[in-house]
Order: sequence, then structure tokens, then C-alpha cells
Amino acid sequence: MGERCIIVGAGHAGSQAAVSLRQEGYAGEIVLVSDETDIPYHKPPLSKAYLKSPDAGGLVLRPEAVYRDNSIQLLLGVRVSAIRIDDRKLALGDGREIEWTDLVLATGARARIPYLPGVALEHVVTLRSMADARRIRDMMPGVQNVVIVGGGFIGMEMAHSCSMLGKKVTLIEAAPRVLGRSVSEVVSTHAKARSRAAGIDIFTGVQVAAFEEEGGRVAAVRTADGRRFEADMVVLGIGAVPNVELATEAGLAVDNGIVVDSHMRSSVPHIYAIGDCASYDHHHAERRVRLESVQNATDQARHVARSIVGCADAYREVAWFWSDQGDMKLQTAGLSFDADRHVISGNSEDNAFSVYHFQGSRLLAVDSVNRPADHMIARRLFAAGISPTDADIAAGPQHLKQLAAEKSLAPA
Ligand code: FAD
Repeated sequence: MGERCIIVGAGHAGSQAAVSLRQEGYAGEIVLVSDETDIPYHKPPLSKAYLKSPDAGGLVLRPEAVYRDNSIQLLLGVRVSAIRIDDRKLALGDGREIEWTDLVLATGARARIPYLPGVALEHVVTLRSMADARRIRDMMPGVQNVVIVGGGFIGMEMAHSCSMLGKKVTLIEAAPRVLGRSVSEVVSTHAKARSRAAGIDIFTGVQVAAFEEEGGRVAAVRTADGRRFEADMVVLGIGAVPNVELATEAGLAVDNGIVVDSHMRSSVPHIYAIGDCASYDHHHAERRVRLESVQNATDQARHVARSIVGCADAYREVAWFWSDQGDMKLQTAGLSFDADRHVISGNSEDNAFSVYHFQGSRLLAVDSVNRPADHMIARRLFAAGISPTDADIAAGPQHLKQLAAEKSLAPA
């Protein structure tokens, strides 16, 4: 057998890796295996536009012809059940085995399910795939009261989407604030207030205790503090767990994700991991992270393609992500784990502001609400390695833009 790269998982990461491999000149066979039956599609619209105008036509990541024209073999509806390292083979769920010379794990993550009474009832749903979104869309006409469990990105987005569809929406978050794992307290407070003003009931610091049944499906959510919320649909949005079982069983190192180095190489030669399932030492955050964003999946996919064809550069892309919630476009550039102070530019009353997070004088992250220009400039500042001063931020976006441009043009 000649060279054959098999990519397991055809989400944003897997699909991009296949195409990038060809673009980088990989001449061997490329096989892209997905346990889903849908051709690879965009995930972000599933919790946003898709439920409101369910035209799935525009969701495909790339037309089927792109795979065909690039000689990428797309195996849909096929699950990989084991990785054999000694003879470099994959076992497929349908009983077949295929050999690989390079293997990319792009297995993503799955919705976390809480261990609570009634969690398996009908109309208690999670949203991770196109199939989930279809199921939820089909339920919608018969639903009036929606309870969302979890105030992360997907929970908040679903709350707004359901509210815009005219449903009565209650969101219950166990932590003291919504979006607590993703954005600063200032943005959390703003998002909560704005969402409440849009008619969404939000309860923070409240634990869900059980789901009640009536007529064979969920009818209410009970909380630990004794409250009861009627529900004819419950959306669980309490985070995702990485799909690492294949890697673990094959003996690869796993630490909240398949451990990879700055070339996306796992602990076993010729096996790589990218996207939501991979954890790596982030050069700017200076810690091991596992990120769940389209940018991370796509950039790591491009990077793994370069690694496989022999390029030695280390992965150093700026992390960024976004979320659309009602009339708020939230965007974050960088990672704010170790921030010890922040500077605000703009005004939350205008529903348009940015929060610059620093560790001392070092810029770590910028959260923006309806300030897309700030977000783009922040990405340029990070790429150029610039930390603005408080005075630079006060001088406004034009000044920051110029700062980033001057540094990028300066001789190395
Ligand atoms: P995935 O997209 O999860 O793809 C992994 C694929 O591998 C899946 O199809 C899975 O079924 C398959 N697979 C797993 N195991 C196997 C196996 N053994 N055999 C075969 N196939 C297997 N990010 C943003 O930046 N902005 C957003 O606004 C945003 N919105 C989102 C909204 C929703 C509803 C969801 C679910 C996610 C959203 N994200 C958003 C996150 C973003 O979509 C993910 O970070 C991204 O899809 C990760 O891509 P991935 O390819 O690593 O994983």
C-alpha cells in the first residue's frame, strides 16, 4: 500500500484537514470517515438561524464535488470502532478494516448529560449535530414552555432562538453567572440583563434536581431549592465532553482531550489530533487548553496538513470565537484565564462595548459586544504581539489599529 491518511470525524476540523492536505500537495489517498450521515456542515447556525428558518441547504461546508474533485474518499455513516497501532489498521463498525500510514483524529465532542432523575424522558434534548437540530425543529410546533438547563453559549443562543419563535423560555444556570466559562463578568451581567429584557426568565445559582414526566414525556423541571418550572421541552446545555475513547483505548496520552504538541502530533508517531477533541499547550495562555470553536478546529486542521507534509512550524494561531444572542454579537479574541484587571471601552447602555483583559500590562483577551471592529483589531494586536496601554485604549479603535499596523510593518 502507498501513503494513506485517514481522518476520523468529518466536522469543521476533519473536513478542512482533508481539503488542506490536498492543497499542501499530499499525494497519497485521503479517507474521511464520519459516523454521521449528513455531508459535513456548519454547526454554529444550528442553535441560531436554523431553528428560525430551517433551510439546511446553505449549511454544507463544501459541496460534495469538492471531495470528489480532490480525490477525498468520504465514508458517511461509518463509525470507527478501534485503532490498531502495531499493524496500523482501523476497525470500522461495519466489520471492515483499513490500513493507514497517517491518522488524524478529529472526533470532536459530545453533549454532557447530567445524572438526574428523568433525564432520559422524551423531549429532554441536547444539541450537537444536524440530526439533533432536526429533531428539535420537528418538536417546536407542539412546544410552548421551554426550559434550558445551562447558561453557556449554546444554552443562551437556544434561549434567544426559542424566545424569538414565541416560546416561553426559562433558563436555569447552576453557577453564579451565565457564560461564566467564556467571557468576563461584565459581559455576563450585560448578557443576562439584555436576555431578561428580551423576555427570557434567567435563574443563576440554581441547581436542577429532576425532570418530571406526564403522558410519556417531560412535563416539568424541579430545582434543588424546591421550585417547579413547567416544560414541554428541556434543552440540556451544560457543556461538552471530548470524544477520546478511541485514543484512550489505543493507549494515546489523554488529558482533557487527546494530548498533542505544537504540530498536532499525539504521543504515538503518525497519529495526530485536532479540534474539539485535542488538548495542547497554548503559546499565549501558557497552559494546556482544549478549545471548542470553529477557528480552533479550522486552523488546527490547516496546521496538521502542513505537519503531515513535513512543515516544521509550531502552531501559534490567535484563539477567537463568537456567539449571537438576540441583538448581541459577542466576540472574544485571546484567552483570559489569568487576567487580574480589565479596561472597558464603550458603554453597556449602548449595547456596544469591549472589555480588555490584562495580566499586569500584558493583554490576554478582548471580549466585544456589538463592536466587530474592536474584535478584528484585537486579533491583529495579538498577532503582532502588542499589549496596548490604558491610554492607547482610551485613544480609540483607530489608534489601536494604527499600533497594530505599525508593528506588522516594522522590520523584524
Ligand atoms: P465536531 O464538529 O464535533 O465533529 C466531530 C465529528 O466526528 C462528528 O461528526 C462526530 O460524530 C464524528 N465522530 C466522532 N467519533 C467518531 C468515530 N469513532 N467514528 C466516526 N466519526 C466519529 N463555535 C464557534 O466558534 N462559534 C459558534 O457560534 C458556535 N456555535 C455552535 C453551535 C452549536 C449548536 C454547536 C454544537 C457548536 C458550536 N460551536 C461554535 C462550536 C464548533 O461548532 C465546534 O468547536 C466545532 O464544530 C468543532 O469541530 P470538530 O470537527 O473538532 O468537531
